[in-house]
Amino acid sequence: MAQRRRYRVSGVVQGVGFRPFVFQLAQRLGVGGHVGNDSAGVFIEAEGEPATLDQFECLLRVQPPPLARIASIQVERIPPLGERDFRIVESRAEGRATTLVPADLSLCDDCLRELFDPSDRRYRYPFINCTHCGPRFTIIQALPYDRPLTTMAAFALCERCAAEYADPSNRRFHAQPIACPTCGPRVWFEKGARRFEGEAALQRTQASLLAGEIVALKGLGGFHLACDARNDAAVRALRQRKARPTKPLALMVRDLSLVRRLVDLPEGAEALLLSRERPIVLLPRRADAPVAESVAPGNPLLGVMLPYTPLHYLLLDGVLEDVPLVMTSGNRSESPIAKDNAEAQAHLGDIADAFLFHDRPIHTRCDDSVVRVFRGLALPVRRSRGYVPLPVMLPSLLPEVLAVGGELKATFCLTQGECAYLSQHIGDVENIETLQAFEEALVHFTQLFGVQPQVVACDLHPNYHTRRWAEAWAKARALPLVAVQHHHAHIAACLAEHGRDLRQPAIGISLDGTGYGEDGAVWGGEVLIVDGLRFERAAHLAYVPLPGGDVSVRRPYRMALAHLWAAGVPWDDDLPCVQACPLEERRVLAQQLERGVHCAPTSSAGRLFDAVASLIGVCHRAGYEAQAAVELEGLAQQATGAEAYPFAVRDGRPLRIEVVPMLHAILADFRIGTYPSIIALRFHITLAQALLAVCLRLRDAHALNTVVLSGGVFQNVVLTEHLAAGLESRGFEVLTHRCVPPNDGGLALGQAVIAGLRLSGAT
Ligand code: ZN
Ligand code: ZN
Ligand code: FE
Repeated sequence: MAQRRRYRVSGVVQGVGFRPFVFQLAQRLGVGGHVGNDSAGVFIEAEGEPATLDQFECLLRVQPPPLARIASIQVERIPPLGERDFRIVESRAEGRATTLVPADLSLCDDCLRELFDPSDRRYRYPFINCTHCGPRFTIIQALPYDRPLTTMAAFALCERCAAEYADPSNRRFHAQPIACPTCGPRVWFEKGARRFEGEAALQRTQASLLAGEIVALKGLGGFHLACDARNDAAVRALRQRKARPTKPLALMVRDLSLVRRLVDLPEGAEALLLSRERPIVLLPRRADAPVAESVAPGNPLLGVMLPYTPLHYLLLDGVLEDVPLVMTSGNRSESPIAKDNAEAQAHLGDIADAFLFHDRPIHTRCDDSVVRVFRGLALPVRRSRGYVPLPVMLPSLLPEVLAVGGELKATFCLTQGECAYLSQHIGDVENIETLQAFEEALVHFTQLFGVQPQVVACDLHPNYHTRRWAEAWAKARALPLVAVQHHHAHIAACLAEHGRDLRQPAIGISLDGTGYGEDGAVWGGEVLIVDGLRFERAAHLAYVPLPGGDVSVRRPYRMALAHLWAAGVPWDDDLPCVQACPLEERRVLAQQLERGVHCAPTSSAGRLFDAVASLIGVCHRAGYEAQAAVELEGLAQQATGAEAYPFAVRDGRPLRIEVVPMLHAILADFRIGTYPSIIALRFHITLAQALLAVCLRLRDAHALNTVVLSGGVFQNVVLTEHLAAGLESRGFEVLTHRCVPPNDGGLALGQAVIAGLRLSGAT
């Protein structure tokens, strides 16, 4: 006796070939009924013998398409209709969107083969894609994910594409961005008044790059600025025009063999480079890397990625096949990445010598993601293209929350049920343009996922732009606002990504550049006991004065002098940090420190790295964020077998980690001519041992065995490895970031979880 069952499948089930899979399965088993998309996921009605339906259901669960992620399948029995055929039905848009939006996917192997197959009708077509690859998040305007609701809506399918789209046995069955040279988007090259299309556009772009010109390339989530990375003059011109003097530039190269000429590949690096997300991977640069020094001046790392769109593969073919290209975000200094053709012309016109445009609109801007490799796996530095908007799964249901993050590397977070949607990287929210990009992305996310926040979370810092924005936004909607301490949020983010219940107490170590403290000081070397929704400041780096705020962040020599002053060490002329500070500035600084004018106390670990780097002559001025720390870590990686310097942990609540003994020892080491690399490594080890000593004391006092490592300083893999290994050797469980960044790019997740739990605790 035939039965009919209705299924609701939720998770990542749209844009990943799920309906064709269901269709083919039903045909194979002789099941009647239909399948379709709606805003909650996929709905199926299936009719057949009970045993056949059981088998259908079982295969649905165990053999979904490779990119699908099933969150749940609900089943109910409904009256049979006597249906024998199976159909794919129209999408339905009603109801609240709860389906997951897929992230953009790098070109699959099948499409890559066709791209370079002269007999294929999509031979050398820059927009080839299929159900298993291509643009998703960046072209989706609304759900359900169907072509009319993407930026491909304007391209009417040709007969052959329409036939492929409708053929359940075809790899492009219901591939929403399907396109071909007849009906799809096109590229063109523009230089001044001259314009070239198709193959000529690709050739002109390659010639332009080879000639040392800068070309703005329209990509997947925005424009890149590209140039020949071997050409020092070209790279310098790009830096000068973009007003980006020293911050490292990312590279794109054709394949792994070329990557190996640029960088060393630690275990796990290849897999990350080749992963479908195709992030930029920061890797140790080889001394003989064939790129201009100006690509990443003084930097021990190079950021490298492999091609991820067909257009990239075509550009890096032929005359450019051995050429590493600089591929940096198409923006001016810290503005958002340009995504529209007109916008690029307006903003990049005096940076780029030429443009490679295309006419597939980008709906959502999305920068490249960046990761480091820690113990063979990704340590996220920037979570964006390829990862966003897939949710971080939470351990429990939360009310709907909007968390606005910090000030630098801004991202926001929306929660819904057990999902936390962290936005793509938006940038430093200090200018109007970036704040607009923030709002634009927020509106898109709330509409896409149908989230209606019941509470708004922000940082405790009274002057963060995001906080002011959150205050106004919450007030206009009469929503409660929860201000979360910066380091509490960092620790909560790491716990949340590991699926830990925040109500379980743990030790959290947050090492960071900054973070507004409850006492008004600048916190950044913190050991917290997070207990329930509150935290206790259990230990911190001893305070030193931060003379004049931002100016000392840009000039590490000022931090070195402040640390010396706090330790009672005279500013002797033989010290590099003293020499680096102009005489007049030194005089003013001394007065400032004596009188305590504009000298907020700080426990910042980031500033301690600055101080040590300048103390031993490694870096006196930071051209980009954390430059001193990056260079110090790079030096430490060249040394082996060093020992810790002395340090002290002073009693009290909180405990204080005293670095004065270490500073004396560093000076002594420096004065006898010890290699900077040895001093750098000893400094890393000392910091790790001091934190281990604190954790051992806290374990005794509080019976806690889990230690969470977060804050921007934990992008440093040397420190992370020494600390994690030390803790593990003493039996601690250590949690590090794997999914969201330890820096402020992950902050919103922690804010959201804390605010959500507070609200649900209150009601
Ligand atoms: Zn494909
Ligand atoms: Zn076509
Ligand atoms: Fe932070």
